[in-house]
Amino acid sequence: MEFFDFHHHKTYITDGIYNLDIEQIPPDFPYSIGIHPHDIDINDMDRQLNWVKNMMFQNCFAIGECGLDSLVPIDQKIQEEVFLKQINISNEVKKPVIIHCVRKFYEVISFKKKAEQPMIIHGFNKKQKIAEDLLANNFYLSFGKAVLYNLSLQDILKNTPIDKFFLETDNEDFKIEELYLKVSEIKKISLEDLNEQILENLHTIRNG
Ligand SMILES: [Zn+2]
Repeated sequence: MEFFDFHHHKTYITDGIYNLDIEQIPPDFPYSIGIHPHDIDINDMDRQLNWVKNMMFQNCFAIGECGLDSLVPIDQKIQEEVFLKQINISNEVKKPVIIHCVRKFYEVISFKKKAEQPMIIHGFNKKQKIAEDLLANNFYLSFGKAVLYNLSLQDILKNTPIDKFFLETDNEDFKIEELYLKVSEIKKISLEDLNEQILENLHTIRNG
């Protein structure tokens, strides 16, 4: 069985969404393209945004990862400006937005009303209350390696509707199969059903 890896940075994985590095040329398998807050070049933002617009080929699945990060030494106002511009691109090209967020969840929620396409918080690893608020605002959550050992995150996953999440390896070195296996135990469904559900969720966000 093939397991879809919703957000990763490894060119050898073809069943998933490969997140392009800044200024990279897209591969011939599904990818996401965006400007991560820590990659923002304050002297050359237009060129970076043009790269996003010009590399929008058939395999582009989503815009991102983009978002807000309170630990990155780029002014928050600039981060918000670049985030909003990428939301606008996503509205134009009708592709979902994969979001990177560090300690800025309520600011990210405030941007939701500007987005016409689905928004997915990748690498979710925060508290139940934040998960509930994100879900109440129609965000999807993508979970990664931490689910394998973090008990409170396992509880959050238990409470997350089956049609509202994805699974990913991100930068971590482990097999996505392990995560699917763990999640099938947590959600008490078969691996086959979980796999099918994730593919259905993908279908839903792709169609807006
Ligand atoms: Zn990532």
